[in-house]
Amino acid sequence: MISLSKKVCLLGDFAVGKTSLVRRFVYSLFDDRYLSTIGVRVSRKMIVLPRGQDMVELSLMLWDLAGSEEFNTVRTSYLRGAAGAILVCDLTRTTTLDSLPAYAAELRQVNPGAWLVVAANKGDLVGEHRLTEAQVAQRAAELAAPYFITSAKTGANVEVAFHRLGELVVA
Ligand code: GDP
Ligand code: MG
Repeated sequence: MISLSKKVCLLGDFAVGKTSLVRRFVYSLFDDRYLSTIGVRVSRKMIVLPRGQDMVELSLMLWDLAGSEEFNTVRTSYLRGAAGAILVCDLTRTTTLDSLPAYAAELRQVNPGAWLVVAANKGDLVGEHRLTEAQVAQRAAELAAPYFITSAKTGANVEVAFHRLGELVVA
């Protein structure tokens, strides 16, 4: 068994569900540090993945902005060293999808090789959706990222989205 640790960031507009997705995924909270100086919460979750013939024990360090979003002041330290990111949009608000390329560009400016997975969240709020899956798919393709329709509320596709990012960052 190979053991690795990777930093991944949650990126997306206010209230899209970044913190809720982390909480849902990290149901067995192993480590939860609050870096009050930079307003970031770091959670740790172990996942086990195949890589070729080996199994990899991956410790995912999940970085999430805590409290009010003051992204300008934390940007560099927040992104530095990230192997990848979950880009989160909210299916009930079209502008949240439009924001994703800028987040991706900022991350790739700091870490050119960073991997991305798009989580189109609030999949459960079916009657309130203002974005179609086709729109999400097109944006994700432009960012060369896989996408998932997630719900932090029901848990739909949350595990699979984080696992896909895990596979990408250990590949
Ligand atoms: P953040 O600002 O991106 O961290 O967003 P939060 O995780 O704080 O979530 C913002 C609001 O959206 C909260 O009221 C959550 O309960 C709600 N929320 C987050 N994810 C979902 C979801 O998948 N479905 C529904 N119905 N509500 C969600
Ligand atoms: Mg949050």
